[in-house]
Order: sequence, then structure tokens, then C-alpha cells
Amino acid sequence: MDGYHCYWGKCSYCNRPSSHRDLRRRKDINLNVELPDYHKIIRIGTDALKPSEMRLLRKLPSPVRLELYKLSIRFDKASAEAFSEAYTGLPFVVSGSLEFPTDRMWKIMNKGYNTKELIESLNILNDLGLTITGGFILGWNCLTENDLTELERFFDKLPVFKKFLLFMFNLHIYPGSMISDKYEVGHKIYNKAFYFGYTPKISPEQEALNNRAFKIVEAGTKGKGIIVNHIQDNTKGS
Ligand code: SF4
Repeated sequence: MDGYHCYWGKCSYCNRPSSHRDLRRRKDINLNVELPDYHKIIRIGTDALKPSEMRLLRKLPSPVRLELYKLSIRFDKASAEAFSEAYTGLPFVVSGSLEFPTDRMWKIMNKGYNTKELIESLNILNDLGLTITGGFILGWNCLTENDLTELERFFDKLPVFKKFLLFMFNLHIYPGSMISDKYEVGHKIYNKAFYFGYTPKISPEQEALNNRAFKIVEAGTKGKGIIVNHIQDNTKGS
């Protein structure tokens, strides 16, 4: 399937289309393209690959002049198991999202899995010896004290990774997302390739909880093979 879509399409903060209607269907992965030497990564272009479609990864050719493939999946158990079955040992970076990993927040985010399943999925991927990347979102207007306690527990339960790159993002409110009417937005516009949204306004109390959550991320990732990366906020306006 060619296009930027996600079969899940239900996360409350996201407006990525789930419809396949307008996309070009592929029967196989045909990568017979001449790539110049400076291309180092081939991204399997879907967010995220369905568990039932993981078998197609078996058809990927070994990299010749390429360094690695990059694939986005959901960090649910079905996706991790399907990837593990299809994995043929090619160099891969597998990318997914931690977002804000507490069971209450998973429900608010409508992510379709829970913290226990996320940890199982990360263990499966880590056992394959892959590099994993994940996003973490801060800037929520609905955090509770209990979320912070659960967040600490989450990091305690994580394995030590071969290599995990954690990307810290600010929450942005995208038009058409389910939470778009639940946040007061400022007039700063987040504008990145393929995507734009608004910067939410949150109360000082919520800002303090988000800041404490960030400290927990910093402390919890130490000694776990996790490198924390801060994503530059590309906002326009004042
Ligand atoms: S956040 Fe990710 S998994 Fe959720 S709908 Fe958007 S692209 Fe799909």
C-alpha cells in the first residue's frame, strides 16, 4: 500500500487517515530501484504496518548499498509477534510509540492496548537485538498524581535495551482529531512536513505535572539503554 495512513486510525490525538480507499495497492514489495549511495535508510512507508501484513517483510531483499530498513508498528503484542515471525535478520529499526504509558492514559488516547502488553511487545522486539525508537508525548491537560506513580513503575519494569531512542514530543492538537475540542489552543501553529496542528494551552497545575513526568522519564531511562532525544518544536506565531 502506498501512502501515509494507519490501519488503526483511532488514537484520540491523531488525525491520520485509516481509509485505504485512495491509496495505491501493492501486491508485493518491489524495490528494484537504483539508489544512490547516500541513501542509508529505506522507510517502509506506512503508519503502522498491520500484523497480518508483516509476512510481506519476508520479501525484502538484503541491503546491498543500503544500511537499514525502518518500519513503524504499533507496540501491541500481535504486531510484535507478527514482526518476530516475519523477521529474517535484516538490519531494521522498528519504530512505535510510548506516548504516555499508563493504563488510564492509554484509554484516553484510545490506543487499543495497555501497559502490560506494551512491555511484552518491547521485550519481544528487544530479544531480536534490534534498534527500537519510540515517541513520548508531554503537554497533556489531564494528568493525575496516579499517572506519575504508574509512570515510575513503567520504567522500573522495562528491560535493558540493546538500543532504544526515545523522542520527546510536545502534544499538538490536530484538526479532526478526537481531542480537538477538549483543549484550548493558542495561535501557535505546529508546522512540519506532512502535518500541522495547534499548540495547546494548559493550566499551571497541569504544566507542573507534565514537568514532573519529564523528570521521571529522565530518571527512569538511566541504565536502560535508552537515549532521550528532544524534538525541536517548529511552531509559528507568538
Ligand atoms: S497515533 Fe499512530 S497508531 Fe494511532 S492512529 Fe495515529 S498513526 Fe495510527
